[in-house]
Amino acid sequence: MTSEESSKMLEGLFKLVKEIRPVPKPRTRLSVYETKMLRERGVTITDLGDYALLTEGRNYGRIEHYIEWLAEQASIPARSLLYRPKHIGEDTCGFYGFQLTDAVALLVYMEQLGIMVSATLLVDELLPELEMRTLLTEAEHLILTYKLWTGRRLMFIQSTAKRVPGPEMVETFRSPMGYRYKMVRQGGQALSLEVRGPKHRELKQESIKCDYCGLTYLSNTPAETRAHRVIHRRAAQLLDPTPNTRFAKRLAQTDHPIIVDSNAPMWMQKEVYRRAVKFKRDFRYDFVQWAGDDVNPVKIGWHGQLFPAGPDGTIAGACALSNEHPGPGGVEWTLAWVWIAPKYRRQGLLAAHWPGLIERYGSFFIEPPLSEAMQGFVRSYGTESQIEFLAEPRERYQAEREFQS
Ligand SMILES: [Zn+2]
Repeated sequence: MTSEESSKMLEGLFKLVKEIRPVPKPRTRLSVYETKMLRERGVTITDLGDYALLTEGRNYGRIEHYIEWLAEQASIPARSLLYRPKHIGEDTCGFYGFQLTDAVALLVYMEQLGIMVSATLLVDELLPELEMRTLLTEAEHLILTYKLWTGRRLMFIQSTAKRVPGPEMVETFRSPMGYRYKMVRQGGQALSLEVRGPKHRELKQESIKCDYCGLTYLSNTPAETRAHRVIHRRAAQLLDPTPNTRFAKRLAQTDHPIIVDSNAPMWMQKEVYRRAVKFKRDFRYDFVQWAGDDVNPVKIGWHGQLFPAGPDGTIAGACALSNEHPGPGGVEWTLAWVWIAPKYRRQGLLAAHWPGLIERYGSFFIEPPLSEAMQGFVRSYGTESQIEFLAEPRERYQAEREFQS
């Protein structure tokens, strides 16, 4: 189709919807065409055109000429269908048409443009089967959500005419049924037609940042609201942790720190991993510094530690060390990160664990950059070499790295 032809189609459709005619009364019983469509599980393009003509006679009944073009706009496939021969092996004849659900979806689409067709009765016939389905085609999804979206959509049809820099002419129209149209033309060619259903509401969507979980999401979108709820709940488990009986049991068994390495139970590794993710998010780093995840145990060479808030096993925070790369001066272990829930900060939790860490890992290197709070902490509790590295940590570290490699 040339851009001129496609622009003409769009003009024709606009002319059709602008013509004022009484709205056909809703039917309560399937028509002959509809019964046939359901029985044959498909329809020829000609029959679908005739069917549409029964209720949509505007613009001299041109609707039948728009069927294929509209299907194309809706990405609904027209295909060649064959009549099943009486005896297998006999010849059969074919026709160009739509499979049942594709045809009904096309009617749904047409209805949403304000074309006088009604998919209601056909949709009702198809729903029971679709509601049981796990996988759907796009057309079937359109049918499944028909009632939810009738009159509520905002749709666009574009011609293939090229938009060029320069002025555009806009013509608007509101139909008696309440459909609002906006036709955009340029140089006498129709570019696009916007159609707003009578019940379409422009939702005020704004970007909301949740101070608690840190997620930025769009308001008034069910999918984003749901996603936020999940992330918020997950954040709550870290920010306002509750007693953990498994951890409490472990704590009761030993006075020694419990190392979370590749052999540690998965639930402990998960607790460390999730705090590594939180640390990465809080400080906007590119990588999660923990060589495992929710389902894969951490690699050898990584040690985590969970900090209990008390004997009930509430996990206040965690840290991770690795010996994958030696630190400056060949220091074996590097502290990758420490994350403690805000409500447990500045209560001496890390200070209480620091000597234990030094005892086990030596005067380990602390991976820069360090937050202000962490720098202050190291000045008070760090070893001599740890404090020394605060001076010009990055330059020296990098220089040594380059020297080593
Ligand atoms: Zn939140």
